[in-house]
Amino acid sequence: MSSSASSAPSARSSHPRIAVVGAGPAGLTAAYVLARAGAQVEVHEGSRVVGGLARSLDLWNQRVDLGPHRFYTQDARINALWESVVGQDWATVESHPGVLRNDGQVLRYPLQVADVVRKVGFTESVRCVLEYGMQQLRPLPEVRTFEDWLVQRFGRRVFEQFFRDYNEKFFGRPCSQIDAGVSGSASKDSSLIDTVLNALRMGVGITRARAVKQVTEKFPFPHRGTGEVYERMARFIRDNGGEVLLESRVEALEVEGRKVTGLRTAKGSRAYDFVISSAPLVPLVAQLPGQPPEVQRALVEARDVLTFRSAVLVYLEVHGTNLFPESWLEMHTRAVRTCRVTNFRNWVPGLYGQERSSILCVEYWCAQEEDLWTHSDEAMAALAQRELESVGLLGSTPVGRVHVVRLPRCFPVYQPGYQRVLQPLQTHLDGFERLSSIGRGGRFSYNSQDANWRMGLEAADGARAALGF
Ligand SMILES: Cc1cc2nc3c(=O)[nH]c(=O)nc-3n(C[C@H](O)[C@H](O)[C@H](O)COP(=O)(O)OP(=O)(O)OC[C@H]3O[C@@H](n4cnc5c(N)ncnc54)[C@H](O)[C@@H]3O)c2cc1C
Repeated sequence: MSSSASSAPSARSSHPRIAVVGAGPAGLTAAYVLARAGAQVEVHEGSRVVGGLARSLDLWNQRVDLGPHRFYTQDARINALWESVVGQDWATVESHPGVLRNDGQVLRYPLQVADVVRKVGFTESVRCVLEYGMQQLRPLPEVRTFEDWLVQRFGRRVFEQFFRDYNEKFFGRPCSQIDAGVSGSASKDSSLIDTVLNALRMGVGITRARAVKQVTEKFPFPHRGTGEVYERMARFIRDNGGEVLLESRVEALEVEGRKVTGLRTAKGSRAYDFVISSAPLVPLVAQLPGQPPEVQRALVEARDVLTFRSAVLVYLEVHGTNLFPESWLEMHTRAVRTCRVTNFRNWVPGLYGQERSSILCVEYWCAQEEDLWTHSDEAMAALAQRELESVGLLGSTPVGRVHVVRLPRCFPVYQPGYQRVLQPLQTHLDGFERLSSIGRGGRFSYNSQDANWRMGLEAADGARAALGF
């Protein structure tokens, strides 16, 4: 598989030549820190833009993200890196997320006991707190599924009140058919989990009101959207002698024995000293040579076990500026198919500037076999508008332009036992020298930006250690 067309690694310069596959958060973080360390970095991005799932879009003279994208980390190294990229060009989002329930009521984050009691009802609230207390005294013998994990943590009643319907819409299957392993990412991602827990603890007197953690209520956000961070990283790489090649889909890695020596795109082969790939794991493994039988078996099983949810995002230009106070609303109600609505007007002024309209992003999550995935843009726009009207989020405010974005295979679904299939694939990849597979796709990991930054940093450290610079 080695290439005759490729240039020899390091032949053109004394700096190590490193390829990064994918210009999303994972890949760009690795490329950015390597460029800072003096490597000759070439990023190959299959699409026309940088930022991956965390990119921002210019839309109708405003800026929007792919749904709500908040960056949150407790890791000082990642925080410092974020600050070094964004500089002073950020503002604080005073986040007002909310939950729209089956009964049409909106609960505000962070959950306040008085608000919950008023909306959920006194008797039901007392039952929730009692069941939570009982559950803590009598833990489940085994926590295997996401449902077990939620019931163990909150009691069954709270699971049914706050978590079941939303997560079933999100994953497209009952929580009892999701591996408990998702809890790590879900609990980090969801302010709801912490806030419910705090409200319950207050209910049973474990914490006092003033001790309630203000979960991601305020967070820093770039003036020009989440994607601004990645656009800046790409600019830095280019300004420092590296390349960020768009529409450069990597078709295969080139190897000699167990050592990766380069990669191939439609334009030909290039040789590298090290490759960091954030491309999806299964196709990557499938094209590598020397698969032992357990890897071949895992590749076959992966089709049914390592599955993904896809998303259809419908952007609506709404001619009004005070639609509703929340920055985003999770749609826990079964009355609509949308799972979440983001109101970019309630993020930072840099996103909308002087414009007098609001952009809403109405999210639908589905499998690619579902009708939602194949609906036309017009059908999706009509559905989104109808659903928002039905839950009272639009009132009589007129809707102008619409824009639809489809995100194929963007959320890994942790089916029970998925690790049995995933592990041999990861072990096989990890056995190749001069290769790191990272990121949401590269590790089949349902995670957030900061986790991908960490993987990018670790891959860059690994490349530097392997190449000695
Ligand atoms: C709707 C939504 C809301 C989210 N909200 C949040 C949030 O609030 N906070 C948060 O931290 N995270 C959030 N996330 C998650 C976050 O976007 C992802 O964790 C992150 O973008 C993953 O980074 P990545 O680099 O691993 O993958 P990606 O962002 O998917 O980037 C991978 C890149 O690699 C490219 N690529 C793939 N294969 C190839 C190939 N063969 N050749 C060349 N290029 C290739 C792709 O085109 C893509 O640009 C959200 C995600 C979605 C979809």
